[in-house]
Amino acid sequence: MGFASALVIFAHPDDAEFMCGGTVASWVNEGTDVHYCVVTDGSAGSNEPGMTREKMVPIREREQRAAADVLGVRSLSFLGFVDGELQVDLATRKAVTRVVRRVRPEVIVAPDPSRLWFGNRYINHWDHKQAGTLALCAVMPDAPSRPQFPGLLDEGLEPFEVPSLWLASDDADTYVDISKTLETKLESLRAHESQGTGDALDWVRERARELGQEGGFEYAEGFKTFDLRDEDLDVTEPV
Ligand SMILES: [Zn+2]
Repeated sequence: MGFASALVIFAHPDDAEFMCGGTVASWVNEGTDVHYCVVTDGSAGSNEPGMTREKMVPIREREQRAAADVLGVRSLSFLGFVDGELQVDLATRKAVTRVVRRVRPEVIVAPDPSRLWFGNRYINHWDHKQAGTLALCAVMPDAPSRPQFPGLLDEGLEPFEVPSLWLASDDADTYVDISKTLETKLESLRAHESQGTGDALDWVRERARELGQEGGFEYAEGFKTFDLRDEDLDVTEPV
């Protein structure tokens, strides 16, 4: 694939590792600079009586940094919106667009916002859908349109057209071979100790095996991909 840079946009600490940890590790091995944009503060990540949102935030951030270190992620932006209450509005769109225009990635990876549920076992979290929609808003129209968020121009952040978008989706058309990086993905998930992610590793391995069967690998992650480069424009551009 050979992306020079990638930006993963997701709602909660641990989403990126579940969604695409093996792909991130593979890309990092190939020399891709991978960056993270963590949209919420992860403060709703515990049902334990006595645990508060305030206490949860630094735990989630610390765990997310540790997981990113395992995968070799280059930078993390924590946007700090309230976990469980994420809205697609002008404030969240501007915050995500700021990161996109700063990183200027060749590909954005994000959750598929159209998924209301997965199979018969999991209703998709509200924040995941909002984070996916925020990524789509950044791709079009927010990052490339000069009139959007003029304050970002004052920060020196020029418009940017995102060349590729990969959505982590059950509706996949592209599979990444993670046979060599599955163990790294599992190790990154273990870093999210407060989430009990260690108990999910068998399921994660099994899911990667199923996707591998679809993609022709031992283990894989699947994405619905968009190539957004306007090739006609390149052809007609005066030399
Ligand atoms: Zn999540």
